[in-house]
Amino acid sequence: MSAVRKVLVQGGGIGGLTLAAALAQRGIEVDVAEASGAASVLGVGLIQPNNALAALEEIGVRGSCLEAGFQLEPLGIWNSEGVEVATIPHPEGRYGQPSNNGIGRPLYTGILREAAEKAGANIITGVTIWEMNEDHDGVDVELATWTGKRTQAVRQGGAASSRYDLVVGFDGVRSRVREHLFADAYAPEFTGFACWRVKMPRPVDLTRSAFVMSKDVKAVLTPISDDEMYIALVTPEPGNPRHDPLDFVRLVHERMRDFTGPLAELRDSITDVGRINYTPLEHVTVREPWFRGRIAIAGDAAHTSPPHLAQGAAMAVEDAVTLAAALVEHSTVPAALDAWYTRRRDRALFVADMSLALLKQEMGAQMTPDEKELADVGIAGALAILAQEAY
Ligand SMILES: Cc1cc2nc3c(=O)[nH]c(=O)nc-3n(C[C@H](O)[C@H](O)[C@H](O)COP(=O)(O)OP(=O)(O)OC[C@H]3O[C@@H](n4cnc5c(N)ncnc54)[C@H](O)[C@@H]3O)c2cc1C
Repeated sequence: MSAVRKVLVQGGGIGGLTLAAALAQRGIEVDVAEASGAASVLGVGLIQPNNALAALEEIGVRGSCLEAGFQLEPLGIWNSEGVEVATIPHPEGRYGQPSNNGIGRPLYTGILREAAEKAGANIITGVTIWEMNEDHDGVDVELATWTGKRTQAVRQGGAASSRYDLVVGFDGVRSRVREHLFADAYAPEFTGFACWRVKMPRPVDLTRSAFVMSKDVKAVLTPISDDEMYIALVTPEPGNPRHDPLDFVRLVHERMRDFTGPLAELRDSITDVGRINYTPLEHVTVREPWFRGRIAIAGDAAHTSPPHLAQGAAMAVEDAVTLAAALVEHSTVPAALDAWYTRRRDRALFVADMSLALLKQEMGAQMTPDEKELADVGIAGALAILAQEAY
């Protein structure tokens, strides 16, 4: 008998929707409480490495992702004039080809949402957990209406209360469920760097993801469909400034001023502020069990890292499918959560620590001896480890 019959997932992002699909497909009743509206997906696109594609196959959506996306092989390294000087072939491993798939975030989330709903998950948008009261065999939860940052949550009364066997916080870097479990012990830390992402038409000859460094700015070009790509810029942003969105176009041009050749052409074509997304890069690494009693956290809520291995969402998806499996393989919640955390901890924290070390190395930031040792493994070395180890 499985450890749970009814689960609440807070957060209907990539991880939360994957968990909802995986649980509902196993006959477990699932509610998803998501703050933002159905159409609101932050970000532009991302890379699905083959370990993520393998985990997505478990909920039956690998094919739809490949169809909606753009297969990238191998990764290219360009000089600041846009000339390819090296490639990083994806290492051989247990997860096969294609090694990477670029995909638009709204499309990706839409595919996951459809899979979750088709399996019977109940996705409630515009809500958040107001209160949780746990006892030995369940958690009583009251939901409140909430649409996210800078708005007040509004209680709805008794009709919004239910009892669950397990509550999972897949609610991202600013997780309220993490706060409930650990207070401010794991508040997100700003790295000193941020990422600008701009969606634009794909040049026909851009058929792989390309990395370009120019002084202290890193650019990554990623096709996400036949027609579209995005450029991601990692830039130093000392003091974590709050930029005015009306200034985004000028700021992106300024940060790309040292690029020449095709990168300069792309820069000059950036004129629409609506296509620019700005994200300060933060990290959170919870180095103790990601649960207490019947309340757990997963994905970015437990381990957020800079995007330097393109593995953050992959880890969220792996967390989700392995958690669903553990909950049916074990007959009690403590046994299931303990087995799941033991299985996931080292791999997810390796990605988090390695990504932060790579960011610091690339940007010339101060590093601890442990970070230097990790960064010396390099992107290719880290990808080989992730491709060979099972999730
Ligand atoms: C610049 C950048 C590029 C990246 N590129 C890649 C990449 O190429 N490949 C890759 O694998 N990863 C990438 N990542 C990482 C990836 O975006 C995250 O790791 C992934 O989105 C984490 O998924 P999640 O479901 O844990 O959290 P999220 O995607 O953050 O989802 C959390 C959800 O919870 C909701 N929520 C938050 N708080 C509440 C609340 N209190 N109540 C209700 N709902 C709430 C949010 O609205 C959101 O829908 C990148 C990250 C960045 C910043």
